[in-house]
Amino acid sequence: MAFDPVAATDVIMSALSAEQLAKAKAYTIGSHWLLLWNFVVGALVAVLVLRWGVLVRLRARLERGRPRPNLAAFLVGALFFLLSWLLSLPWSIWADWKREVDYGRSSQPLADWLGQGALSMALSVLLGGLFFMGLYALIRRAPKRWWIWGSGFAGVAIAVMLLISPVLIEPLFNKFTPLPEGPVKVALEELKAKAGIPDARLVMFDSSRQSNNFTANVSGLGGSARIAIADVALKSATLAEVRGVTGHEIGHYVLGHVWRAVVMLVVIAVLGFWLVNRLFAPAARLMGAQGVTGIGDPAGLPVLLTLLALYMLLMTPVMNSNTRISEAEADNYSLNLAREPDGLATALVKTADYRYPYPNRLQEIIFYSHPSVSWRVRNAMAWKAKAMDKAVDSGAASK
Ligand SMILES: [Zn+2]
Repeated sequence: MAFDPVAATDVIMSALSAEQLAKAKAYTIGSHWLLLWNFVVGALVAVLVLRWGVLVRLRARLERGRPRPNLAAFLVGALFFLLSWLLSLPWSIWADWKREVDYGRSSQPLADWLGQGALSMALSVLLGGLFFMGLYALIRRAPKRWWIWGSGFAGVAIAVMLLISPVLIEPLFNKFTPLPEGPVKVALEELKAKAGIPDARLVMFDSSRQSNNFTANVSGLGGSARIAIADVALKSATLAEVRGVTGHEIGHYVLGHVWRAVVMLVVIAVLGFWLVNRLFAPAARLMGAQGVTGIGDPAGLPVLLTLLALYMLLMTPVMNSNTRISEAEADNYSLNLAREPDGLATALVKTADYRYPYPNRLQEIIFYSHPSVSWRVRNAMAWKAKAMDKAVDSGAASK
């Protein structure tokens, strides 16, 4: 009997119970709403800080005597990042910790979550402070065209972050170790060699510290690039599944998807900074930013960031459509490299717990950073059907 990809997809998807699907749907749709609520909370915090006037006072104090614009921009930015972390903490505890634990997506104790949150806050105070120090220097030097220079600067900053992240930042949050010796390591080294990237580093990490999600990722650029597989995935997956997933990550690496994302962000930043430049004055009035002298005043950072956050919220479908294309390409790369349609498919089903597999088309376009799991499984089965046809053809031809 001929292989039927539709029937095979149904069999694989039937591993998900009705109860599992209902929970995944509630979790996924709730996460989409969180995009909006996160923006609302951020905007409220910004308004609160602006009306309090603490940033204007700090900037004025720093400029008493001789002007020190870079120091003022850095410290005002750092203070705002610290304040907004503190003010939105009750919300973050609910949205990013409690909700994840309640849905079974995380088993992290609150104390550990808070410790890591404080660490990432410290990083954003330092790195965010430095970034906005640079951006305000550009605004002072090129008040009319800073949005062009600023996007280039943002692109460089993102590339630098990607370069240093696997070496300096990610090890602060997780432990990265070489794959343990054994059949999995042998199989994955073989896959890497077949892809022509024998030098790429392949590591595992204790993602279970923060999350129970079945996952893997590529990070870094050039010499710092590496493919990391979650301990959650290594523990619960078959060899075929690990091969399928690793093939997908190798695909991201070989096809240069990190670079594509950087270029995309720079293009998005040009338009975003241009809009911020236009809308700053009315937005500052609307938000009650008393004492802020204009867009070049670092005390107006909460206005600038709220406008950017609103813009990024509206750009969600554009960003997601870009990554969805990369994700489909990585799946196809994996199928051709690892030739594990069933392994890839059953591994994908394990991600359906946090990505409801049956969105409607509009939900998928707006909110999904990956094609839906049902589509991806069907795609893997279609590949399998074609591969079986080819095998039959070549079998017939050799007779
Ligand atoms: Zn991917």
